[in-house]
Amino acid sequence: MSSHQHVRPWRMIERRKSRKIRVGSVEVGGDAPITVQSMTNTLTSDAQATLRQIAALEEAGADIVRVSCPDVESTQALRTIVDNTAIPIVADIHFHYKRAIEAAKAGAACLRINPGNIGSADRVREVVQAAKDYGCSMRIGVNAGSLEKELLERYGEPCPEAMVESALFHANILRDHDFHEFKISVKASDVFLTVAAYQALADAIDCPLHIGVTEAGPLRTGTIKSAIGLGNLLWAGIGDTIRVSLAADPVEEIKVGFDILKSLGLRHRGVNIIACPSCARQGFNVIDTVAKLEERLAHISTPMSLSIIGCVVNGPGEALFTDVGFTGGGAGAGMVYMAGKPDHKLANADMIEHIVELVERKAEELKAQQDALMPVAAAE
Ligand code: SF4
Repeated sequence: MSSHQHVRPWRMIERRKSRKIRVGSVEVGGDAPITVQSMTNTLTSDAQATLRQIAALEEAGADIVRVSCPDVESTQALRTIVDNTAIPIVADIHFHYKRAIEAAKAGAACLRINPGNIGSADRVREVVQAAKDYGCSMRIGVNAGSLEKELLERYGEPCPEAMVESALFHANILRDHDFHEFKISVKASDVFLTVAAYQALADAIDCPLHIGVTEAGPLRTGTIKSAIGLGNLLWAGIGDTIRVSLAADPVEEIKVGFDILKSLGLRHRGVNIIACPSCARQGFNVIDTVAKLEERLAHISTPMSLSIIGCVVNGPGEALFTDVGFTGGGAGAGMVYMAGKPDHKLANADMIEHIVELVERKAEELKAQQDALMPVAAAE
């Protein structure tokens, strides 16, 4: 839909046109939904611990998961991991060509490797051949902190031009081997450098882009940095798959990744809770209630909305646009709204259980409607 046809043109994001590649069963780029990924931090050689973490990431909504393969024990465990999860696994190799070949044979959906770091031309050819033989795509991962020495000397410091030059150098090696199933990242921990590097890369090549602000930091500050950096890029239509890098539980990375996409209307998953910050007018404790509801409703993946508002100042207005709403009132009770209309009164004391029940029921209803429309497609 072009911008003048859109009912709310100020909300429209036009995505950069990229080539589509596959990461196992998941499409990346083109018109495929923007995917969210994270990385395990267990020892990959401990297949069971890694699988438990992958399951937690999957439950949180991860589309793709990356695992490090620094040694042969890890690539050996990779086969067990791949065999026991439906989620596509990216093997993070760095430069050892044997690990790359082992990972491809073990069933990795994608190799994260920079071909320029593999070594001799023969080794590069062997890795590319393994990727072709076993249906692996690749990710070229350029990082401002580990740019080639020659580039650093020439440019003086990590800068967008040096990062793009590095990315194109690696990409050209793959293209020379007639290998085109790759995506690229050009990450930095600095938000400005990250955004400028991706903007320049987006103009220089048509492959899908894996975007992220690397080493963004702990949960709160890392989330903010990522939201600013990735938000800026996504808003400009750049980015086909995202990874939020936090010094926190990887499950948080998935939640933050989805929240960034949800804020921009690029992807919808789970309950979008609209809540007021609360003030002296609140008819119930908004903050406590929202924290409890967020936890109790985390298992719902069907996209829907819930408004929890402290009083009538903004409650009815917000409820107009949500599937389920609650607005605080006087005398220990408030009003429940269904699809924007006042529906019934509810005592504050019963609200958590009752709202969870209403939302779960509504989610089932919406899912059934969605399934009826698209019987074979995934629910999300
Ligand atoms: S909606 Fe009501 S309770 Fe919430 S912040 Fe506004 S005035 Fe305060």
